[in-house]
Amino acid sequence: MKMASLGEFGFIDLVRARVHGPRGLLSRGIGDDTAVIECPPAGSQLLWTVDMLVEGTHFDLSYTPPRQLGRKSLSVNLSDIAAMGGEPAACLLSVGFTKQTDVAFAQDLMDGFLEIAGAYSCPLAGGDTVSAPQIVMDVTVLGVVPAGEAYLRSTARPGQLIMVTGSLGNSASGLEALKRGLSREDSWKTLVSAHLDPVPRIKEASAAREAGGVRSMMDISDGLANEINHIARESFAGAVLWADRIPLSGACVEFCAKTGVSALDLALYGGEDYELVFTAEAGDAQRIAEAIQGATGTTVTVVGEVTGAGKGVKLSAGGQESDLLPRAYDHFRTR
Ligand code: ADP
Ligand code: MG
Repeated sequence: MKMASLGEFGFIDLVRARVHGPRGLLSRGIGDDTAVIECPPAGSQLLWTVDMLVEGTHFDLSYTPPRQLGRKSLSVNLSDIAAMGGEPAACLLSVGFTKQTDVAFAQDLMDGFLEIAGAYSCPLAGGDTVSAPQIVMDVTVLGVVPAGEAYLRSTARPGQLIMVTGSLGNSASGLEALKRGLSREDSWKTLVSAHLDPVPRIKEASAAREAGGVRSMMDISDGLANEINHIARESFAGAVLWADRIPLSGACVEFCAKTGVSALDLALYGGEDYELVFTAEAGDAQRIAEAIQGATGTTVTVVGEVTGAGKGVKLSAGGQESDLLPRAYDHFRTR
């Protein structure tokens, strides 16, 4: 069956039937003119974020299965909540389907979305359903953070160490594997999964908060080079990244060796890893890294240091320092 036959209200009924009742701060969800949310407890603040995914710009349906797309559409928003050091509270989903979209596609998309909503206690509170010339998803997430304690980009200071969770470049190599039709090869499974189904680092951020001592944080959605430039600019600081410390997975290194791509380039400029980058005083770094690793199993690596503003943002490789430019994907420019 096509969406044209099911219709907007048929689809909303399908979604509604799969969503549970009140939960956490959400006291009324789908079915009324708006959702009703309880005020957050005293001593906390709300986080509020939105991210839009458009077919052709952010994903290609020839290699993106709908279930993974549904999962990713929420995961990338949860990654922003994690980067602020918060916990998810509820989400909204606006979605555009074409008249020719199969209902099975729409259902798989919702399966994926609701899996992540359930896994991270982020109930679907409502949304909008429209017909569109291509698939569009616009996801809003509300989160909660202890008042005054959100992790900002503007609070890095010279002398702090720069750390990242997980390994970088997996998503970009997974995308490359998908584009080259290599995604079925077992060796690249983890890379493809990193691209299609990134894991939001909510638990890692929560372990970091428990440990205490994080001074600034953001998620790595556009490549580490870009994000470090953001932190440096917002903090009126400089930074140096140590090339040989940047964590690369074995699969990424192997894939890059086979395909003649630079693994370091993918780690620095590739994007969509959705890992966390954060800073901490040198005396706190090891303790925070161990707390995150202990609680989640996710590795944490020191990759550089915050420096003075006059120093600029540098990459140190083989004893040489060069400028590290924010060469991320820009939607209105081509590289
Ligand atoms: P309104 O016209 O008041 O915006 P709609 O008819 O668009 O209401 O939606 C009816 C209900 O279904 C609302 O509670 C809305 O939040 C919910 N809803 C619509 N589309 C979605 C969706 N894609 N996911 C979740 N809830 C949805
Ligand atoms: Mg509406």
